[in-house]
Amino acid sequence: MSSSALRRDFLTKPIFSWARTVLPPMSDTEREALEAGDVWWDADLFTGNPDWSKLLANAPATLTSEEEAFLNGPVDELCAMLDDWKINWELRDLPPEVWDFIRRGKFFGMIIPKEYGGLGFSPYAHSEVVRKISTRSVVAAVTVMVPNSLGPGELLMRFGTKDQQQTWLPRLADGREIPCFGLTSPEAGSDAASMIDSGVICKGTFEGREVLGLRLNWHKRYITLGPVATLLGLAFKAYDPDHLVGTQQDLGITVALIPTHLPGVAIGNRHLPSMQVFQNGPNWGRDVFIPLDYIIGGRERLGQGWKMLMTALAAGRGISLPSLSAAGAAYAARTTGAYARIREQFNVPIGKFEGVEEPLARIAGTAYLLDAARRLTCAALNQGHHPAVISGIMKLHATERMRIAIDDAMDVHGGKAVIDGPQNYLGNLYRSVPVGITVEGANILTRNLIVFGQGAIRAHPYLLAEMNALADADRVRGLDAFDAAFWKHVGHSVVTLFRAWGRSWTGGAFAPAPDAAEATGFYRQLSRYSSAFALCADMALLTLGGALKRKEMLSARFGDILSELYLLSAALKRWQDEGRQQADFALLEWCMASGFKTIENRFAEILANLPNRLVAVVLRFLVQPFGARVLGPSDAVIHHCAQLVLEPSAARDRLTPNLSHIEDDRGLSRLEKAFLLVTGAAEIAKRMRTAHVSDWREAVAKGIITQTEGNQVAAAFEAAAKVIEVDDFAPEALSPQTKKPAEVHQFFQELGEKRAAS
Ligand SMILES: Cc1cc2nc3c(=O)[nH]c(=O)nc-3n(C[C@H](O)[C@H](O)[C@H](O)COP(=O)(O)OP(=O)(O)OC[C@H]3O[C@@H](n4cnc5c(N)ncnc54)[C@H](O)[C@@H]3O)c2cc1C
Repeated sequence: MSSSALRRDFLTKPIFSWARTVLPPMSDTEREALEAGDVWWDADLFTGNPDWSKLLANAPATLTSEEEAFLNGPVDELCAMLDDWKINWELRDLPPEVWDFIRRGKFFGMIIPKEYGGLGFSPYAHSEVVRKISTRSVVAAVTVMVPNSLGPGELLMRFGTKDQQQTWLPRLADGREIPCFGLTSPEAGSDAASMIDSGVICKGTFEGREVLGLRLNWHKRYITLGPVATLLGLAFKAYDPDHLVGTQQDLGITVALIPTHLPGVAIGNRHLPSMQVFQNGPNWGRDVFIPLDYIIGGRERLGQGWKMLMTALAAGRGISLPSLSAAGAAYAARTTGAYARIREQFNVPIGKFEGVEEPLARIAGTAYLLDAARRLTCAALNQGHHPAVISGIMKLHATERMRIAIDDAMDVHGGKAVIDGPQNYLGNLYRSVPVGITVEGANILTRNLIVFGQGAIRAHPYLLAEMNALADADRVRGLDAFDAAFWKHVGHSVVTLFRAWGRSWTGGAFAPAPDAAEATGFYRQLSRYSSAFALCADMALLTLGGALKRKEMLSARFGDILSELYLLSAALKRWQDEGRQQADFALLEWCMASGFKTIENRFAEILANLPNRLVAVVLRFLVQPFGARVLGPSDAVIHHCAQLVLEPSAARDRLTPNLSHIEDDRGLSRLEKAFLLVTGAAEIAKRMRTAHVSDWREAVAKGIITQTEGNQVAAAFEAAAKVIEVDDFAPEALSPQTKKPAEVHQFFQELGEKRAAS
């Protein structure tokens, strides 16, 4: 007997037998979710020894000249047509001419290949378009993004039959069909696979022919574009009680195309999600009959719907919401910096107060990080990857951090952002935040269950192979595969232990890093944290096994560390790709210090809560003997980051590129104009302040400033005053439903008189 056979039979076999009994059963939907998409840089981070040269070798995502022309042509034209106030508060919808422009301009067909009449854009181009539109109108951005993410178009391209592609894709590309996708139902939200919507295989008549098909019954809700859709992508559970297609009765989740004009389809009213007036609503089907070839991918795809959805989600989740969120953070940085420079209190621009610098720096740092991660993820998608774990990280952290940036922006603006009206350029973005948090996998679920829950198995170098081997129905083959994976895993764990120990005890001083000038130390720290993460994750998996899935708080903390490792890698890549800009270094420092603080705190929390206390004590000794020590960005770094958004500069433009800038003398356009005037006249205003003269005419008269300078400072004062203005409304304008505002007014007048009399 060879030594490997001895090892297998005497050492591996008992472990294999024991592991098979303790391995929690995995449902088909869990397995399909795990197998969807692929792994990328997340797998490197999981090894505990990321190869930085691999990351840096990735070419940055770029646009073709055609994509660039679309962004600066039709996208700008569309942005100019959008009046967010009118859309949200007056029309409660996009105006008809905007719908028409979007459809004709093929905005709904950005990802559809040219051969089917679409624009054939890359994920990065798609992301840039969504990004720009969302800084003008969230409603328009959501309307454009939905047909290009998870829905009939994407599913048809990946899984549709040739016939289906030729029939539907050209109609989707040119907007003849408006698609939506119905997965969520009242009883099945986060647990979408528990839906009770059904499709029973039966014979029926369709367009005059008797065919084999499905009789569908469903109730969906929250469906974006549902109220105006002409083509519904529907997820349901297929059953074959009469065994018309095979021996199985429960066939599983299936997705089909439902033209909404079919008898039995009922499109409901509209929901109003957080006052965002994109089209969204419920729909129903009562005994709707479709032929089997309306199943996306045809009859062979019966029961494969979940796998198809998870595969599509693995890419889609990394584009739409991350793009909107990265744009939101950049928009917050540009507007809040400008406002904090214009708005003065106590005779000082509010942005100069340390208390305001802190949120300003957080906004700027967040904007830098999110756009870095968006670009890196788009680069992976452009290369054809579908990184399921990374897209989960992106969806979660982009929407979560946009929430922080927008909250900060609101706080810094004070009443200016609270008072609604055409001059408020932030309020609507603020109201839209919960939508991004909730959709495409609500954030609590994504953080606690998906990022690490999926990542640990998916991105781990050996775990998936081990689990597949344990679940193999062929015991002999399973044992062989397990033997190979398990011992490699053991070897890897031993190396990781010493690596993590050494790097932690030396503060990462000798951990691998590329030569990246001032940023080299940051790479070393990430190498150090990556090895500590790999060790702790392995130990948690070993001691908790399948129970780790239910330990959501522990899982979430591991997920946070993995996410930080990814996001911070992206920030380093951005700094490198942008030519190591010295002016941006404070932003990079802010990202690193904030991320390192989170990583260290999460390690401390994991080690304080790991149920196996002996393992926890050993791990603490190895990787965090002195506890969490990083405090976050220093005051000096915060100050530098805040300064960066308070003055016009190339660094500010780099931080906030390609936002929509339309000259319309409304909120944002006024702000930009005033910002340039105020910063341009700063030196003149300073001279006036030094001379204790606040009236520019007096300053001219006293020779403190010239007449030209007086005009310049007057224009700046006037522009700033216009920005600081907020809207007010006639009572009847705010209560259009109230027929008699005059009576209300009279009521209050009489009340006042009575009070005065008493
Ligand atoms: C504006 C809007 C647009 C939408 N568009 C579409 C669409 O076009 N098509 C479509 O099919 N669906 C759509 N949805 C549905 C969306 O995907 C669901 O709302 C989402 O999946 C969450 O479901 P739920 O709202 O029922 O929340 P629930 O599932 O009830 O969840 C409530 C909370 O519990 C948490 N939670 C649930 N399970 C767990 C767990 N195991 N661990 C930890 N936390 C958990 C969730 O994170 C969430 O915070 C849309 C929703 C909205 C609001």
